[in-house]
Amino acid sequence: MSLLCFQLEKKSSFLDYREVDWFSLASILFLLMFAPLIVYYFIMSCDQYQCSLIDPVIDLLTEKKHLSDIWNKTPTLTYRAAGIYTLWVAFQVFLYVFIPDFCHKFIPGYVGGVQEGAVTPVGVVNKYEINGLQAWIITHVLWFANAYYFHWFSPTIIFDNWIPLLWCANILGYAVSTFAMIKSYFFPTNAKDCKFTGNFFYDYMMGIEFNPRIGKWFDFKLFFNGRPGIVAWTLINLSYAAKQQELYGEVTNSMILVNVLQGIYVLDFFWNEAWYLKTIDICHDHFGWYLGWGDCVWLPYLYTLQGLYLVYHPVQLCAANAIGILILGMIGYYIFRTTNHQKDLFRRTNGNCKIWGKKPEYIECSYMSVDGTKYYSKLLTSGFWGWARHFNYTGDLMGSLAYCLACGFEHILPYFYIFYMTILLTHRCIRDEHRCFSKYGKDWKRYTAAVPYRLLPGVF
Ligand code: NDP
Repeated sequence: MSLLCFQLEKKSSFLDYREVDWFSLASILFLLMFAPLIVYYFIMSCDQYQCSLIDPVIDLLTEKKHLSDIWNKTPTLTYRAAGIYTLWVAFQVFLYVFIPDFCHKFIPGYVGGVQEGAVTPVGVVNKYEINGLQAWIITHVLWFANAYYFHWFSPTIIFDNWIPLLWCANILGYAVSTFAMIKSYFFPTNAKDCKFTGNFFYDYMMGIEFNPRIGKWFDFKLFFNGRPGIVAWTLINLSYAAKQQELYGEVTNSMILVNVLQGIYVLDFFWNEAWYLKTIDICHDHFGWYLGWGDCVWLPYLYTLQGLYLVYHPVQLCAANAIGILILGMIGYYIFRTTNHQKDLFRRTNGNCKIWGKKPEYIECSYMSVDGTKYYSKLLTSGFWGWARHFNYTGDLMGSLAYCLACGFEHILPYFYIFYMTILLTHRCIRDEHRCFSKYGKDWKRYTAAVPYRLLPGVF
């Protein structure tokens, strides 16, 4: 799962290589300049304006406040936050690099341990140590052990240091992106899989190296995509729940819903981490600022806005609304998971499987790799893949809407996530289809004729 809206059109694929056009460049410059400000604005508006996105603007326009007033009220970087963050990242690196997976040995059906990724454009197959579920479990067991038994630190620690931690996350995000850029020039992991455009900003943002690594196992994409951000996601939500308890003496049902629904999404990610190796993020995207900074800052800060909002505005939903939202979230999750599973099963078994109890229907297709070798593949046209070409995104969007609805309708801030996901997934859908068209040519056209809709049958 890439976790950013700014997944601009990639320039390399199996077949083509294009110059950086002015629109891509303008978008990149815009995002490099404004994405950090957007994150700051959201978090600051909760801290200083009870999550109102409009009030800061009104204050500035009416000159009730100046930018300097807002900035001076913003908590600065502290030694405590720097210590917490360093310990956090170091612990995740330790779990990732030094604890080989043991979950797959005793959890039936779980695929962990050493797994192979997809073939890269120049024909390399990377091996990955899949131990994300284990890292998540260990981290959360320690979190609960601390909360209920050891009391080394308060469970509200994340909320209490949220803005100082934002500076730390930014430092890491920029450091890792800059390091990846320098590394790609001087000591790339696989020089042939590098993609230089000659445009500094594009290369910095979209990345040069395909799979940068340190040593044999420390893979930047897998680590940064999954660990500091996604393991933290559920802890951040737990910290918000603890803050509600501290402030109001209870945790609202909306907070529980957000924790549960997002918890399922995160757990699903780790349960299917081996599958994730075959998704667009790992198979097609290079590692640059949009992944490095995005995973460190954008994801943990903006994907958790609902929980943050509920600390400032505790919403107690009536039973009917709570159940309705839970059902929407669960149906969304079911569609998301089943659709992804159908494609995975179909591809893994080369079509020798059952989809909804029947032999799968599909379209045979072929493509050429850069060295001119012809390969064959299949595009599934039954199950959810017969309903729309990206029904997995539709399920994802339904789940995203459920998180937002749990926050009620008083403010727009918690709805940022559904706006963002709609843009991200629509853009991703178009980007992916562009890539598939250049890869499969007329076979892709046959497929789009057989499955004419992208996200919603009969609509789009
Ligand atoms: P998909 O899992 O849909 O993969 C797209 C690829 O699948 C295509 O490039 C093509 O690759 C292959 N494909 C397309 N159509 C078919 C078909 N009919 N049959 C078989 N193979 C097909 O996309 P993503 O990797 O983007 O997404 C994976 C999941 O991650 C989704 O559920 C998405 O919702 C989620 N996600 C979540 C995000 C978040 O921030 N929360 C962000 C992005 C994604 P090939 O070249 O192999 O043919």
